[in-house]
Amino acid sequence: MGFNLPVDRLSQQQTPYYYYNMELLNATLDAVRTEANEYGFKVHYAIKANANDRVLGAIKNAGFGADCVSGNEVKKALETGFNSDSVVFAGVGKADWEINLGLENDIACFNVESIPELEIINELAEKKGKIAKVALRINPNVNANTHHYITTGLEENKFGINQWDLENVIEVLAQLKNVELEGIHFHIGSQITDLLSFKDLCLRVNELQKWFISHHIFPKVVNVGGGLGIDYEQPDENAIPDFKSFFRVFDEFLELKPGQELHFELGRSMVGQCGTLISRVLYIKNGVNTKFAIIDAGMSDLIRPALYQAYHKIENLSSTQATEKYDVVGPICESSDCFGKAVDLPKTDRGDIIAIRSTGAYGEIMANRYNLRELPSAYYSDEI
Ligand SMILES: *Cc1c(COP(=O)(O)O)cnc(C)c1O
Repeated sequence: MGFNLPVDRLSQQQTPYYYYNMELLNATLDAVRTEANEYGFKVHYAIKANANDRVLGAIKNAGFGADCVSGNEVKKALETGFNSDSVVFAGVGKADWEINLGLENDIACFNVESIPELEIINELAEKKGKIAKVALRINPNVNANTHHYITTGLEENKFGINQWDLENVIEVLAQLKNVELEGIHFHIGSQITDLLSFKDLCLRVNELQKWFISHHIFPKVVNVGGGLGIDYEQPDENAIPDFKSFFRVFDEFLELKPGQELHFELGRSMVGQCGTLISRVLYIKNGVNTKFAIIDAGMSDLIRPALYQAYHKIENLSSTQATEKYDVVGPICESSDCFGKAVDLPKTDRGDIIAIRSTGAYGEIMANRYNLRELPSAYYSDEI
């Protein structure tokens, strides 16, 4: 189900562009919904992974909530038609206008990351005569064993409230009249493929729940964030992540209290495999020991390889000749503008169509106009 279009159809569009396999997206959303419903878990989609209108529309129609990390994401969620009572808002640096926007729209929850933020939300809510629902984002000090740029649950990270601060936080909370504690929130990182990290998270949450209960605080919601990884090496073999095993870990190890809801914020795992960056070879250039395939997509279209040394599978859809090794690079004036080194591709020529796979998450949304390039466009499997 990964790739379902002949190259002659793909090559009719102006490259570079993102191609979305809508059948795969819908099948993935079905799988998430089915497996989460099995246990009554609620999933908010992390908009920051991909806010393309068609992708987001499909996710809204499938009945998921929205997890936002900026005021504009909150706006986008509401414009797309997500109900305000299924919109949650996280982030270490919420500006006053962003908090006000959330308050005016009565969003479900602010995930709060510090005492000063809690005080500002209280002050702004008081001005509007509202009670803001908040969850405390707690830093669980669990190692997600992923790239250090996308590890977020360690004490040295900027995210969340550290445990030694919790005593202070609940004292402050007791004083604030315009915030109401709704839940506790965690997010340990992204592209996590070892489910043991999630088991560790569950065990930490259980300990923290005991602490809260011993302080006579009973959070209604436990939100364990997102972070489930996808298989970048084998996008066709593992087109849909193993949501069954993922949710089972939480069912097995997280001790929910009676009446408590368990929430998730999945991003990458819901959209990662449905997107492919389609590009065309401009030139083949011979270096000293290396052959470069210079393509018309660059780090402005897909920044993950340059930013995180991320691996994406690269395929030449036009050629069936014997393979050779190429460094696949973009046209941008930076040596980091490289999608893969010593990549095995069938003998590649100018004009060949190159597919960079598994780019549905943190691809199009992170595109920028460096070198004054145009933003990449998007096409959909049910349109071309
Ligand atoms: C980015 C983010 C997510 C989603 O992470 P994925 O790895 O894409 O699933 C969830 N919650 C918060 C708070 C985030 O910042």
